[in-house]
Amino acid sequence: MTQGLVHMAYVAASILFILSLGGLSNQDTARKGNYYGMAGMAIAIIATVLSSQVNAYVVLIIALLIGGFIGVKAALKVEMTQMPELVALMHSLVGLAAMLVGYANFMDESSTLTGVEKTIHEVEIYVGILIGAVTFSGSVIAFGKLCGKISGKPVLLPGRHVLNLGILISCIWLGDQFLVAAETGNGTWPLILMTLIALAFGVHMVMAIGGADMPVVVSMLNSYSGWAAAATGFMLSNDLLIVTGALVGSSGAILSYIMCRAMNRHFLSVIAGGFGSSSGSSSSTEVEGEVQPIEIEETAQLLRDSKDIMIIPGYGMAVAQAQHTVYEITKFLKSKGKTVRFGIHPVAGRMPGHMNVLLAEAKVPYDIVFEMDEINEDFPDVDIAIVIGANDIVNPSAAEDPNSPIAGMPVLECWKAQTTLVLKRSMASGYAGVGNPLFVHENTRMLFGDANDSLQSLIRALQS
Ligand code: NDP
Repeated sequence: MTQGLVHMAYVAASILFILSLGGLSNQDTARKGNYYGMAGMAIAIIATVLSSQVNAYVVLIIALLIGGFIGVKAALKVEMTQMPELVALMHSLVGLAAMLVGYANFMDESSTLTGVEKTIHEVEIYVGILIGAVTFSGSVIAFGKLCGKISGKPVLLPGRHVLNLGILISCIWLGDQFLVAAETGNGTWPLILMTLIALAFGVHMVMAIGGADMPVVVSMLNSYSGWAAAATGFMLSNDLLIVTGALVGSSGAILSYIMCRAMNRHFLSVIAGGFGSSSGSSSSTEVEGEVQPIEIEETAQLLRDSKDIMIIPGYGMAVAQAQHTVYEITKFLKSKGKTVRFGIHPVAGRMPGHMNVLLAEAKVPYDIVFEMDEINEDFPDVDIAIVIGANDIVNPSAAEDPNSPIAGMPVLECWKAQTTLVLKRSMASGYAGVGNPLFVHENTRMLFGDANDSLQSLIRALQS
């Protein structure tokens, strides 16, 4: 394939990626957005493989087969609830790739660059490995936290801000040493030292972040993986990789900003860590008060007597895979002339848009699904708020207790409804590990059990 054709294919792929991002920003067009993205990626891979720079076809085919096999196997095996972990793992691979490409470039003796061009290339290598290493180790820790292998509690080292500053200064100093030493062809030790420091920084940064701040970290690592890909593009002089990396990097950064706003947090204070630590006086997972359990028959009667119903799904709905049953019950209630709406918290579940994806999968119409900001003031007029496997996102202590570890985080104020019905299996706390006074609120009724089982019993009771 001529270089001109490759460039044309890259432009086409870039346009498809931009269309893809545009499509993904709205539920109605998300499916189309995915198709654009897949088409763009297919064009990008084919054009790269057929370009004149690529000739090691045997290695390439073996790598494609191994990578494709692992990818297909993971995609077939992964549960919807494991998607966030999978995404974190994917981010770590982008970081690892940036590191490896950086070292391969550094060791490449065939380079004929001299003068300023050589220096620019060395800066690209240094920055690419730096971002790649932070992304890699940070994403591995995020993976551990998301799948519960590492505790969600923040690990706060004494003097961590000084430590972070020290790391920043040493990376700049090592960068200078690298450029000087690279002149004589001996930049290995500053590069290796910086890599180790960057790896340690990635671990430290994510370990210091508390459970409830993880959404910001996930989107931030998404952004880092984009910048790591862009850095790889610079090292390989691949325009498409630069454009794609910049698209992912900037959209991830915007998502981090949106997440911060949703959590009422400053980006820098999230990165500095500590939110969700157990130092607050209300951090106990125990709550005092009387729990009022409810049985299926009584719940069915409550629903029969209600006119305005708000459903609040959370991570537990994903665990129970209850979305289809939720829609069944929604259709039934609507057929009885009731108003049923869904209230979605921006960080519900374990990844941005998690609940929207599940509801879309169950074919819940978009026009009854509302963002938190759109419906939070309506709760006093709601007859019954049904909380399905949600916990942190409906915790009143975030709004009412300044000592709570999640104080300041906007939540769905369902306790203001006439009655709140909570479906969960036990009194266990949510991801942030914070006790929830909603469960002992005077208007709250607890329907204990797996959300899907409870809802199926509820439909049967309603229909009988
Ligand atoms: P939570 O994790 O706060 O609570 C989920 C609740 O679901 C648990 O208390 C659990 O209680 C219940 N549950 C689990 N399985 C079932 C089941 N089979 N049937 C019924 N209930 C079940 O989830 P939320 O959605 O309320 O909040 C999300 C949390 O995750 C926030 O803290 C957010 O910051 C964090 N987070 C969000 C990310 C994102 O991007 N959206 C990423 C990373 C973290 P029990 O065990 O008693 O059943």
